Amino acid sequence: MEKVDITIIGAGVAGLAIAAQIARPELNIIILEKNAAHGGGISSRNSEVIHGGMYYPQGSLKAVLCVEGRGLLYDIAARNNIPHKKTGKLIVAINSPETEELERLQANAVNNDVHSTRMMTKREIAAMEPNIAAINALYSPQTGIISAHDLMNYYLATAAGKKAHIVYNTSVTGLEKQADGYLVVTNGSRGEKFEFSSGVVINCAGLQSDTIANMLGCRYLLHYCKGDYCGISGIKRGTVRHLIYPVPEKNHTGLGVHLTIDLNGRMKLGPDTEYIERAEDYRVAPDKANRFYQSAGKFLPFLKAENISPDMAGIRPKLQGPGDAFCDFVIKEEFPGFINLVGIESPGLTASPAIARMVEKFLF
Ligand SMILES: Cc1cc2nc3c(=O)[nH]c(=O)nc-3n(C[C@H](O)[C@H](O)[C@H](O)COP(=O)(O)OP(=O)(O)OC[C@H]3O[C@@H](n4cnc5c(N)ncnc54)[C@H](O)[C@@H]3O)c2cc1C
Repeated sequence: MEKVDITIIGAGVAGLAIAAQIARPELNIIILEKNAAHGGGISSRNSEVIHGGMYYPQGSLKAVLCVEGRGLLYDIAARNNIPHKKTGKLIVAINSPETEELERLQANAVNNDVHSTRMMTKREIAAMEPNIAAINALYSPQTGIISAHDLMNYYLATAAGKKAHIVYNTSVTGLEKQADGYLVVTNGSRGEKFEFSSGVVINCAGLQSDTIANMLGCRYLLHYCKGDYCGISGIKRGTVRHLIYPVPEKNHTGLGVHLTIDLNGRMKLGPDTEYIERAEDYRVAPDKANRFYQSAGKFLPFLKAENISPDMAGIRPKLQGPGDAFCDFVIKEEFPGFINLVGIESPGLTASPAIARMVEKFLF
């Protein structure tokens, strides 16, 4: 039977970042992807924001890997001409209870080693962003945006340059423990079955990562939490220059429907949070436009209902079920040579280079 050294399941930003980090010319590493192209999962349906790291509980993997990943990501992007921009971001309060929330967030930022954020007064906000409505804001100068696809292309090219191979249209359907590694069972797009042996298996299967983990008896259950986006049109370029967020939702479910500006200057609103059945349904209900208008209009008073229209959606792979407390990323060597990445929701894109370093330490 054919044998490889390391198998990475899933060619999203996590699997590709890991491949780029751990590939060595002397190792036989393959990345298996069920789709016909890389990056078509969660990694292509998100806000493409390089997060600052102020939201997550102190010491959590989300906090630590976000802060480390942010620094690494700006460096990688600058050195490899990956389109990105350090836009900065304002989290805005529209009443005094929200100002108290921002103060808590500012304290959490310091606990997370994010020392660049600062509270702003109404007058300072008016000077920086004259078209938004807020009584206070938390300013994060380190927040930015990046082209997720260019980043993934860079990771893949780096991995391929060190002799890692990617195999498309190949779905992992079974895993079994063997004496010296794992039996990997795959199905091709025409149903053809192929089995091989792998010394190490790294599960980066995004929305299916719990299913892959369960194949070797590791019990995880992901809840699918959809995030819809709406496009904004008819607003003059430059009306807003920073990313503008409301105070986050309770219990870390989401960051609240916010305004992002992509690298082409297009503005969009979202994502909201909606737990759904386990199906990859990316349709956006028409009434979302009005709902986003009602919520974001509170701090973006220049918006009119006709400026907003349903756009795209993404699905978060959440270990946290509805009403549950915060859940961290799971990045764990469950048994020698079997590494699970489960629940890699936001800030997974930002954290990707730090996640890759963490996984490398399990191996070498
Ligand atoms: C709405 C939304 C907004 C977000 N915004 C941000 C943000 O602004 N900033 C940020 O840092 N993070 C953000 N995130 C989080 C970030 O997008 C994810 O953490 C990251 O993309 C996860 O990457 P991944 O590689 O784990 O998953 P994926 O990109 O889904 O990759 C997993 C891959 O595994 C493949 N696969 C699955 N099962 C199998 C199988 N059996 N065999 C072979 N292949 C398989 C899939 O086809 C897929 O290509 C957001 C997420 C969402 C949903």
